[in-house]
Amino acid sequence: MFNPRLKEIKKSATLKITSLTKKLIREKKDVVNFAAGEPDFDTPSFVKEEAIEAIKEGFTKYTPSTGILELKEKIAEKLKKENKLEVKPENIIVTTGAKFAVFIGIFSLLEQEQEVVIPSPYWVSYPEMVKIAQGKVKFLPTRKENNFKIDLDDLEKAITSKTKLLILNYPNNPTGQTYSYEELRSIYEFLKDKNIFVLSDEIYEKLTYDQNSHTSFSSFPDALEFTLTVNGFSKAFSMTGWRIGYLVAKERIIEEASKIVDHTTSCAVSISQKGALASLDNQDWVEKIRGEFQERRDLIFEGLSHCEKIKSLKPQGTFYLFCEISETGLSSFDFCSQLLEKYLVSCIPGSPFGAEGFIRISFATSKDQIEKGIERIKEFLKEI
Ligand code: PMP
Ligand code: GLU
Repeated sequence: MFNPRLKEIKKSATLKITSLTKKLIREKKDVVNFAAGEPDFDTPSFVKEEAIEAIKEGFTKYTPSTGILELKEKIAEKLKKENKLEVKPENIIVTTGAKFAVFIGIFSLLEQEQEVVIPSPYWVSYPEMVKIAQGKVKFLPTRKENNFKIDLDDLEKAITSKTKLLILNYPNNPTGQTYSYEELRSIYEFLKDKNIFVLSDEIYEKLTYDQNSHTSFSSFPDALEFTLTVNGFSKAFSMTGWRIGYLVAKERIIEEASKIVDHTTSCAVSISQKGALASLDNQDWVEKIRGEFQERRDLIFEGLSHCEKIKSLKPQGTFYLFCEISETGLSSFDFCSQLLEKYLVSCIPGSPFGAEGFIRISFATSKDQIEKGIERIKEFLKEI
């Protein structure tokens, strides 16, 4: 009765657990939400006001399928200034969330049975998107000792004559780690003559902490030829529900990918595009939330650092703390289920990220909630 390919497609564990957590909170359960894959801040008023204005002015119709020119020009300006990318509006599609940008990128490139190398741990949606696009997933395991970064020898082994694409995501969901300029440069040097594309998902770029900085993969010489860059507004501007992101690639790829937009979503929401336009002028906001997230990062990392049985990796970016829980003897799923049932703390198990033995704790919640969550986790750890 259904498309047989859907049998292989898993539901999104991140969306499922996040919505269960929100339901419990709506039911007035005192749940600490460490599951959220979205900032807890409200969308800033400068974005909302622009969108309200757009509604009042009747800017409520279809836009060009690749997005309004003003927004693409503004994104191109941002990419030049902040990411050292020289692109034109023709290199950009504004999409219905960064998620759809990832999907159309993958779908446009893949010929049947071609392979996509996905470093693990990975964001839950990448393998499922590859399967929907009839490609083959090739996981590239990374190691804790290496802060879950790609080892070039392992990458070499993962590549075959069928490899079409490598997915990079940094700062990384779920590990919270990012690549330095030098580390990225060595991946670039390794790949540049290999006829393999890179999809570089940089949605957490603005949430990079301490002395770490963000380099766009596409900024290396001629890398635009083989790189598709994904970014968006969900994380940096608390706009998850506005569903707005973008894909940047060479024109030929954008032309092909835009056909998918034409026949699926038609265009990104007109009102959200106006909101996104207003966001790009407001770096103060980004700095403010980055500072707040960094303080929360310190709070949770310190708070759990003395706990036996749980070892965390200090996040260099994102709002995720990645913790090893294998010493507890519980599976990541059992750990999270018991922690929620008994202590009302919601986290995401590592298994859907390809990381059994780990859990993901989101610190996109208030400091009070973080403190409460730390105490509850400590109690839980005493009990097991
Ligand atoms: N990439 C990664 C790594 C993510 O964690 C997310 C989270 N939603 C996305 C892409 C998609 O973001 P958006 O809400 O803009 O679709
Ligand atoms: N990306 C976020 C997360 O990993 C939001 C949910 C989703 O789209 O997967 O939790």
